[in-house]
Amino acid sequence: MYRPIFPRHPLAFLSPISRTAGNCRHALQRLAARMGVTGLFPVSLLAIGALAALAMVAPDARANEPASAPAPKEAKAEPKAETRTEARPAATAQKGEKAEKAEKAEPADAPPEAMDRLREKLAQRLGAVRAPGSKSPNDLQVAGKNPEAPQVPRPAAKAKPARAGADGALDPHAVALHPAGPAHWAYNGAGGPDTWASLKPEFAACGTGQRQSPIDIRDGIQVQMPAIQFDYKPSGFSVIDNGHTVQVNLPAGSGITVNNRRYDLLQFHFHRPSEERINGKPFDMVVHLVHKDPEGKLAVVAVLLERGSAQPVVQAVWNALPLEKNEDTPAPGSLDVSQLLPKDQRFYTYMGSLTTPPCSEGVLWMVMKQPVQLSVDQLNIFSRMYPMNARPIQPSAGRMIKESS
Ligand SMILES: [Zn+2]
Repeated sequence: MYRPIFPRHPLAFLSPISRTAGNCRHALQRLAARMGVTGLFPVSLLAIGALAALAMVAPDARANEPASAPAPKEAKAEPKAETRTEARPAATAQKGEKAEKAEKAEPADAPPEAMDRLREKLAQRLGAVRAPGSKSPNDLQVAGKNPEAPQVPRPAAKAKPARAGADGALDPHAVALHPAGPAHWAYNGAGGPDTWASLKPEFAACGTGQRQSPIDIRDGIQVQMPAIQFDYKPSGFSVIDNGHTVQVNLPAGSGITVNNRRYDLLQFHFHRPSEERINGKPFDMVVHLVHKDPEGKLAVVAVLLERGSAQPVVQAVWNALPLEKNEDTPAPGSLDVSQLLPKDQRFYTYMGSLTTPPCSEGVLWMVMKQPVQLSVDQLNIFSRMYPMNARPIQPSAGRMIKESS
């Protein structure tokens, strides 16, 4: 965020221009309206007039914005600009911002019909369109080259789309707890967990969900549960650093059987520290093994990691770390994921959610009781990339937690 140090309004230096332009403003607008705003010259005049008028009314127009930028051109650098862009149905490009500013700069005494016509003409000239879903003619937006603009089809990620797809999607081939999508959610700062629900309508469950993950696992009911039947086979693998974690994508063939239901292993990824806690205790890291059944139901096996001896699967993944983010990179050799599992296969289980947006619920969680060790060097390698990528603990809200006795 840019915070100017000016003691006065940062646009104040424009005030001589704005005074001059202000005197001509009404004349310009009348002229433009009569001319139907044709020709480049009147439009330029209008733009200048609008800019100057912005400088005059800027303190009002920006009253809700605690910080501002020193020049109109950089007015985009407002706080929460990123969040706001994402929250809109269509992203607003720089031209759109100018159009908005121009609207805000309109004199309140202008005849509404004339101003509407003027606005339409100006919008046409600037390539603006009415914001989708907007009832107000004032919500003009411009189809620009803003990379956040959803109307511009994003190039398909080079990563296998099936594995880098949206969380919770019912496409049996598309699941990832950490999609490399356009939403700039994060673990701290702007886009941090408190804001996830407001970033996109489809992230709403992050704020309103009642069965969210992770939780502090305690007071589980001890019962005799059948062991998880792991059917993990050595296979090739690929690695992607998706900006939220390091994720290993796996070909079909491995899976688990729980409660007579078979789930295929899709991918696994890491968090530091562990997202889940056991009786309040976090662990150095956790690996989440993400599975999906033919109906699209998700089951995640969490293996807690603590510092100790080196972990061979972790080492194989670190050896294959891609140089570029968001590129699913095939690794040489094969991986035996079963080597990630602890000897003692007792576990805690509860119903929860994805721990990243969209925080979809209905996820069967199985947290292995016995941690697995990794070396301090291995821990440090991940820490350099992701010092903290764990969602805060969510209320367990009386949920049933069972544990193998
Ligand atoms: Zn995870």
